[in-house]
Amino acid sequence: MCTVLARQQRVGPDTAGRDLACCPLPAHPEGECLSEYRSLSSIVGLGLALASVSSLAALPAPSGSDFDRLADQLDNSELALASAAETANILARLHALLPSDDEVRGLRYRYLNCYLAFPNDATAGFAYAEQGLQDALRSDDKAAEANFDFCRGQYRETLRTPSAALADYDAGIELARHLEDARLLGDGLVARGAVQSLLGEQAKALLDFLEAQRSYDGARKEAASELNLLNIATAYRRLGEFEKARGYLEQSRTFAAQRGDTSTLLAVDMQFGFLAFENNDAAHAHAPLQHALELARQMGDRGNAGAALLAQAQAYNIERKYRQAIEALRQSELEQTAISDNSNEGMNHLQYGIAHAGMGLQAEALKDFDAAERSLASGNNLRYLAQLHAARAVSYEALGKTDAALTDLKRLLETNEALEQKSRAEYTVLLSYQFDSARRDLENRRLAADKVMKEQELVALERIRQWQALAIVLGSLLLLLLAWFALRQFYKMRTLSTLAMTDPLTGVANRRRVEHATSQAIRQARAESRDMTILTFDIDHFKRINDNYGHEVGDQILVRVTSTCQAALRQFDQLGRTGGEEFLVVLPDTRLEAGMQVAERLCANVAGLKLDDLAVGLTVSISLGVTQLKPADSGMRALVRRADVALYRAKNNGRNRVEAEI
Ligand code: GH3
Ligand code: MG
Ligand code: MG
Repeated sequence: MCTVLARQQRVGPDTAGRDLACCPLPAHPEGECLSEYRSLSSIVGLGLALASVSSLAALPAPSGSDFDRLADQLDNSELALASAAETANILARLHALLPSDDEVRGLRYRYLNCYLAFPNDATAGFAYAEQGLQDALRSDDKAAEANFDFCRGQYRETLRTPSAALADYDAGIELARHLEDARLLGDGLVARGAVQSLLGEQAKALLDFLEAQRSYDGARKEAASELNLLNIATAYRRLGEFEKARGYLEQSRTFAAQRGDTSTLLAVDMQFGFLAFENNDAAHAHAPLQHALELARQMGDRGNAGAALLAQAQAYNIERKYRQAIEALRQSELEQTAISDNSNEGMNHLQYGIAHAGMGLQAEALKDFDAAERSLASGNNLRYLAQLHAARAVSYEALGKTDAALTDLKRLLETNEALEQKSRAEYTVLLSYQFDSARRDLENRRLAADKVMKEQELVALERIRQWQALAIVLGSLLLLLLAWFALRQFYKMRTLSTLAMTDPLTGVANRRRVEHATSQAIRQARAESRDMTILTFDIDHFKRINDNYGHEVGDQILVRVTSTCQAALRQFDQLGRTGGEEFLVVLPDTRLEAGMQVAERLCANVAGLKLDDLAVGLTVSISLGVTQLKPADSGMRALVRRADVALYRAKNNGRNRVEAEI
């Protein structure tokens, strides 16, 4: 909606009047805005001279999208309408673009028309809004309903008092919140804030303006957002925060100049005027007010022309230029009456009163003051009431009516007290709002920081997870590798240990292993009280064989003797090579006699070996000593020593034989 454009905000002399713009397009003159026609037609792309509705009739059949585009521009405050004639042209164009039998667009056209078409006829505007509201309700079109609420509020402000419009704005705001329409909500908040500001509720007004600003900014409604700066400036001015007000006004003026927005420039000038005389610098109020007046006249905006004149009167009164004040007031009245604008009535009377009193016309002044009091009291504007009581007390005193003067002074005290309380309350509201927003900012920053931290944690966790997966894969590979190495090592070790325990030439147990086996067999025999016999043997005249046939043949004989003996033994008998051509055989579970038989068998088998393949006529024999384990034996050494004794005896007794030693 565009309320914005639409609302006929007057910039009346501060006060009861409306120096505040409603809606983003504050303080607008009724003629409505500005802007050059050229820019508009280029935006809309029609490029036609739309000087009259009849020229529109020649256009091709209207399409909904063209209508929407133009309506959006109006709703978004993107068009600055320079005069009443220009506004009428745009409305005619919008109407020409309206597709027939389109209920929604029909209502949209009507609410835009409602805002814009009655700048100088609030009564007609009000009736139009009422009708629109009923039709919107019947069509269950909530957006249109909210817009007609706002439009009706706008005319109610002019026809009655600003506070009378609050119910309309509240209803529209509620609908806008429900619709989650950021711009509509912003417009409603701005309208309501403007009324609150006029009623002296600057803190509430500021809260509405600031919420509107967030709403516009969130919806990227830049034009509306820029226009709202003027509202914020006005509320700050009324709070007495002149520097802040000046800052916002400067910004607003810059944006308005960029956009060629005469309405806003007018409103900004009005505000600079108020700012000057409220700052006890009435002399500097005239230039901006005069400029505002010129702009208003240029736009045919009688409401704002009246408002500028009223403000000039205020400045003259402050400067004690009473005749000029009266002249300005008369002109102001002419403008306001022409458009049935009653909103500045109280202020008009008050300024007349001040001027008449200044000119010594006390009786006249008292009449003015009484009229002002009736009007101001209904608006409950404390600031103006305070001015009134102060001024009237002076008049009463001049007339010798000290009692009445005293009564007014008492009221002045009470009003000032109430104003002070109000001011304190407003600052409390503002402070708590600032505190709340600071806390909200803090909380938002904390949440944002938490979010960033959580995201970083997630990223870190994800990275850790990836590394973990990689580590698991690598770890598994490593484990497999280690297992493979371990297994290889195990087999290697086993081979090595087997090798370490095996005689490389003959493949039987070496000395270490056979001695170890002998010790074990002794322990087992003792543990199980079994017999056990060992035998040792030595190849006869081996040196001679080596000498006669060579070392290699000697080796072969070692191999053949070993395998022959091994073949003649039981599975659990253990044969080992203890030295060059000396052997030891462990015979578990064997008595001496049986051992002797084994020895005889070995002896015979070796002697029977056929070695012709090695050397023709070659024979070999062994000598053996046998002995049985005795309980008295200290261990393996004693047993082997006794077997060796028997072996030596066999050697000595002619070799190739078996001897036993008991
Ligand atoms: P005896 O009948 O008294 O045992 O006479 P012998 O010649 O066998 O005497 P002795 O036991 O002193 O000699 C052992 C010889 O065996 C000495 C050495 O040259 C030879 N010999 C020792 N180890 C090996 C070997 O691994 N291969 C060969 N070919 N000869 C070896
Ligand atoms: Mg020997
Ligand atoms: Mg020998």
